[in-house]
Amino acid sequence: MDSGAANDPFPHRHLLGIEGLSRREILYLLDHAGAYADQTRGQTEPRLRGRTVINLFFENSTRTRTSFELAAKRLGGDVINMQAQTSSIKKGETLIDTAMTLNAMRPDVLVVRHPESGAVQLLSEKVDCAVINAGDGSHEHPTQALVDALTIRRRKGRLEGLVVAICGDISHSRVARSNIYLLNTMGAQVRVVAPRTLVPAAMERFGVEVFYDMKRGLAGADIVMMLRLQTERMHGSFVPSIREYFHFFGLDYAKLSVAKDDALIMHPGPMNRGVEIDTEVADDIDRSVIRQQVEMGVAVRMACLEALNRDARASAAT
Ligand code: ASP
Repeated sequence: MDSGAANDPFPHRHLLGIEGLSRREILYLLDHAGAYADQTRGQTEPRLRGRTVINLFFENSTRTRTSFELAAKRLGGDVINMQAQTSSIKKGETLIDTAMTLNAMRPDVLVVRHPESGAVQLLSEKVDCAVINAGDGSHEHPTQALVDALTIRRRKGRLEGLVVAICGDISHSRVARSNIYLLNTMGAQVRVVAPRTLVPAAMERFGVEVFYDMKRGLAGADIVMMLRLQTERMHGSFVPSIREYFHFFGLDYAKLSVAKDDALIMHPGPMNRGVEIDTEVADDIDRSVIRQQVEMGVAVRMACLEALNRDARASAAT
């Protein structure tokens, strides 16, 4: 990522991943997102007035796309949504040609989701505007990790020292990678819990403890983060059957009983009930913060859009 002035609290042109962000920069985004989450409607200054945000999604999305749209609108920006299915990509236009076409319209921010890891970075090198990665293949999904961190911080008051168990399809999950970078940087203790077939080789190099058994991995955990089986990124079969997967790795009350009594249950969505999570556990209003994760989505994306629009930040300060 590009660096700017030394005293700039967020000296980056793009937000392509959590990897490489400092603790201070993550805190800057979380603090601003927290402030936005506390604002009531009508309180928000239109810091993106006159700016254009284009959402360019080459993969399906519910939460991420709508929350970026709402975030930009709450800040007074203009938003255009482009779905790959309805664009010229269907007619054979390449990723770069599409990016160059959009670039010629002089947007201020491009929010991009793409099924290939690295595609968003490539695109960011070709355009003049800021680019936000809204998920690239199994690589990174930075705003989801910020959403998760903000949700945890608002419930637990901190990230440092917490034991966080990330469970399920680690291999294909960009949410897992971004969360591992962020939680490690913020001083949490990260575990991954999954069948051997769904953990990448040399996973320990990411600074996590690896468990192949839910009861061991969840013992004493403060946070239990469940992931979906990302079948769209699997080539071949990684689990014997859904029934068996749920039996060994699906989160139910029996497995949860070894975590701390006040352990929080998280899931980035979309959830597959009865596959990675039991429906009652998912809806447990005392333990599950899955709805709160969605609620934090808009505030986090407002903070990210603002952080990348340096002059919007500067004019807000004067
Ligand atoms: N919504 C998240 C993502 O886009 C998680 C998932 O799809 O399972 O990566």
